[in-house]
Amino acid sequence: MEIFTTIKDIRNKINEWKKNNYSIGLVPTMGYLHNGHGSLISQSIKDNDKTIVSIFVNPTQFGVGEDLEKYPRDIERDKLFLDKLKVDAIFNPSVEEMYSKNSLTTVYVDNMSSILCGKTRPTHFQGVTTVVTKLFNITNPDKAYFGSKDFQQLQIIKRMVKDLNFNIEIVGMPIVREIDGLALSSRNVYLNDEERKSALLLNRALNNAKELFNNGQINANEIIKETERIISNEKNTKIDYINVVDIDTLDKVDIINRPVVMLLAVYVGNTRLIDNTVINL
Ligand code: AMP
Repeated sequence: MEIFTTIKDIRNKINEWKKNNYSIGLVPTMGYLHNGHGSLISQSIKDNDKTIVSIFVNPTQFGVGEDLEKYPRDIERDKLFLDKLKVDAIFNPSVEEMYSKNSLTTVYVDNMSSILCGKTRPTHFQGVTTVVTKLFNITNPDKAYFGSKDFQQLQIIKRMVKDLNFNIEIVGMPIVREIDGLALSSRNVYLNDEERKSALLLNRALNNAKELFNNGQINANEIIKETERIISNEKNTKIDYINVVDIDTLDKVDIINRPVVMLLAVYVGNTRLIDNTVINL
């Protein structure tokens, strides 16, 4: 496994690989890796000759007052994790390497970026789509891997790739959870024991929503109301949003007569957690 910190060096390596006609998979991450990342990486290793994992805590996707400074980082632990998985290359650039001071260009996917998480985090998805575009241009992968844990992000990136004609296949992977149902997240380290227990309710409430639908409730607002009730009854929780939207466009759905996803963002203590479940007919 090789570790690259400059764009020039990783490009040289990729050019070498391309000359040999190797297929390349990219897994963009912000590090502090867990088995959720691991599932994306394992899939990329299965699908491609070479797998690159980028580790970059991208400042432009954090809003003012968010957790950029305290976001967990442990590059040595991440290297061990990736070495065991037999990743070919890590791309771990500095902020200065990724963003020149006089950079003026951003990538913004309209409509989809200002709803759901975009309401509370208005600059977040622009930061994501801009950095992902840069990573795509730097690494020129055949496939790139993203988790459904960040469902809105995955759909926005798919849309960006379509709209901007990137010649890259976006592979979406299922949410990896702890045995007790909590979705794995680097941010889970922020939770104390009591908050971690409260956080279990997110997945439980989503499962309950699915059950309501399976028992015949097709009115999305009724399902949302019941989910809100369950979550707001738990201590330490403050709901940011709970919504049911079309699986592709993310448009709000009132009557569930097509595949939808229930998405939620909930503060548990001071930690904002997201989770979702697809409700298929
Ligand atoms: P992050 O490091 O949090 O930016 O995540 C990097 C990638 O890993 C994103 O595509 C996430 O959606 C994905 N990911 C994070 N947590 C999980 C999880 N629990 N299950 C599946 N994918 C995940």
